[in-house]
Amino acid sequence: MIETLQPPQADFLRDESRRTGQAEHIAFPRTEAEVLTILADARRHGWPITIQGARTGISGGAVPDRGLILNLSQMTDIRVTDHTLRVQPGATLAAIRAAVPAGFFFSPDPTETTASIGGMISCNASGALSFLYGPTRRHILGLRVATAAGEVLDVQRGRDHAEGLRFTRGSLCGDLPLLPRPAVKNAAGYFVEPDMDLVDLFIGAEGTLGIVTEATLRLLPIPGAIWGLMAFLPDTAAAVRYVNALRPPPPPPDHPAPESAARLAALEYFDAPCLDFLRTHADELASKNIAVPPLPDGTACIYAEWHAPEDAAAEEAVMAAADHLTECGADPDTAILADHPAEIEKLKIFRHAVPELVNSVIDQRRRTHPDLVKLGTDMAVPDDRLADVLALYESNLAASGLEHLTFGHIGANHLHVNILPRDPADYAAGKALYTRWADQVIAWGGSISAEHGIGKLKRDLFRQMVGDDTLAHMRTLKTLFDPATLLNPGTLLD
Ligand SMILES: Cc1cc2nc3c(=O)[nH]c(=O)nc-3n(C[C@H](O)[C@H](O)[C@H](O)COP(=O)(O)OP(=O)(O)OC[C@H]3O[C@@H](n4cnc5c(N)ncnc54)[C@H](O)[C@@H]3O)c2cc1C
Repeated sequence: MIETLQPPQADFLRDESRRTGQAEHIAFPRTEAEVLTILADARRHGWPITIQGARTGISGGAVPDRGLILNLSQMTDIRVTDHTLRVQPGATLAAIRAAVPAGFFFSPDPTETTASIGGMISCNASGALSFLYGPTRRHILGLRVATAAGEVLDVQRGRDHAEGLRFTRGSLCGDLPLLPRPAVKNAAGYFVEPDMDLVDLFIGAEGTLGIVTEATLRLLPIPGAIWGLMAFLPDTAAAVRYVNALRPPPPPPDHPAPESAARLAALEYFDAPCLDFLRTHADELASKNIAVPPLPDGTACIYAEWHAPEDAAAEEAVMAAADHLTECGADPDTAILADHPAEIEKLKIFRHAVPELVNSVIDQRRRTHPDLVKLGTDMAVPDDRLADVLALYESNLAASGLEHLTFGHIGANHLHVNILPRDPADYAAGKALYTRWADQVIAWGGSISAEHGIGKLKRDLFRQMVGDDTLAHMRTLKTLFDPATLLNPGTLLD
């Protein structure tokens, strides 16, 4: 069952971060029982284990350091059970979407649909629709998790929870450390809170506490109407004003939004260099059947999407959003409206093209500089720091002379600045900027990772964010589940 890794399998030594590692063995289990057998072999030989889903992660979490790769890509079963799905960890998001019964949808939507559900759970992945529906965590009803010792824990939301900070599950029991969490979108570190559902401990743990061998997914009814609007603002400051005009204030707890109202489901951003980049590569995109809609010159772009029970409510929300455009100095006639799923898909399709194009540009440059990788940030700040963080990025980038573009989930103040180094000197300059920004984001109470996780690439930034005491508490928790540090050593924690 366990193979010795041969050179042709070198693909399994890296993920989408383009970092490359090393390993001596690889295994492709098809069942939970096979996972347990492999775990027993690894324990006997003392091999560290690196868990892999689809290797689309961009923080290096699935890149092995040595030992055994446990690749779960062949555990792909999907079963539909009463408006939920029970899935094996290697099922891809694309396969899950195809299996969802008519009238329902699975809302977590990282744009990379080849991602596996095990990887999405372990990174607590999110996407555009997380603005309304939350990250993957909110849509996991239960998990089966194999611990390093070979025990399978069955944890169900609503059934298995901690008593305060005390937890007992299977042969494991202990006290959970209370870990600070920034009050922003965050995917950095363990999730712990008093009386928590134990399933949440494993979501976002980046495979350091156990191996997800099965998950039960929550499905949502498809809304009656989905409308999207792509708007072009004269500059970044206007885009921020527009975002603040669209973002709904939190409803008072005793007066939730009426069921009949349209709800803002996504609020996304593309800066002017991003639009330039798309124009420049329009031919390459066309060859992949990706049509770029007309993009006015020199503008920032906001994509907003509303979900409503019926068209009338969605239309009302979109018309109100169009009124705000004039207030923010934009020409409403340049905005593109989509009120059918096929048109919405056309507006969204190039969103995924941006990170893919960035990767292909970097791959070309690696022919000259093999060690070159892109620098992509994943930081989020509180609402009142959105304008500040964008101004910081823009002024530093303009002064740097680096090639860059910025896109992301502006509704959650969560932006991906992508720096495309042309050579190692560019990379060093970009890295210095990234570190400086992280200092400031942390000082503002933000997170250095809002959706991609810490993996092996952001441990230094993570230490900077949470401090040594929190890392020590996390290590204590890890030791409870994995005393010999067999699972994913070097990911999340040193
Ligand atoms: C072009 C592009 C666009 C992307 N867009 C988004 C986006 O919009 N939002 C977003 O959140 N992410 C995005 N990502 C990042 C990536 O797709 C997600 O992080 C995804 O969740 C990773 O899934 P995977 O199966 O590829 O995991 P992998 O890369 O294989 O692994 C990721 C981590 O999970 C662990 N792991 C994997 N499976 C298991 C398991 N069964 N049990 C325990 N641990 C496990 C691994 O050890 C590793 O630490 C994007 C990536 C690319 C390349």
